[in-house]
Amino acid sequence: MLEKLKERSGGLCELCSKNEATEAYVVSPKKDDALENQVALCGTCLQNLAATDQSFYWRVIEGSIWNPEPSVQALSYRILQNYKEEDWASGVLSMVDLDEDVIQWALSGLETAAVHIDAFGNVLEAGDTVVLTQALDVKGTNFSAPKGTVVKKIRLVHDNHEQIEGKINEQMIVILTKYVKKNN
Ligand SMILES: [Zn+2]
Repeated sequence: MLEKLKERSGGLCELCSKNEATEAYVVSPKKDDALENQVALCGTCLQNLAATDQSFYWRVIEGSIWNPEPSVQALSYRILQNYKEEDWASGVLSMVDLDEDVIQWALSGLETAAVHIDAFGNVLEAGDTVVLTQALDVKGTNFSAPKGTVVKKIRLVHDNHEQIEGKINEQMIVILTKYVKKNN
């Protein structure tokens, strides 16, 4: 697949258009079954995708967002979302006129990409059991759950990867992921 992608991109990374493409990156939630779902990336862009605060680096998007390939547009748009509070990114977002399909693709991937992580870096999943790493006041009650409280069958809050829900004292409450530890 990478070879075909490189034909499309002239051998270069489709985000920075500077470095040689070395990876075929699938733009989630689409699958790797079609070339149209993928973007040719260089190692540097791939690394920066995993990092969170790379505003300076991602100025390359000012170019890639104009790529005719929907997959490149979607990935670029998705990255811009992370920096939309910054002038340069909101400027680009206000200038481009992407298909609604592409925007949906970009945003739907964002939701699946938001990973819930506990205080120790473990990935949390719905149905997991967690332990509170500090005492927690249960809002609206005078009940305080002590450190070490076991919370079973958690739910993930979809639009906020810093929050989960779980039952404490028979009450479903929102708990911050940074105050829990996954119990395996
Ligand atoms: Zn690159």
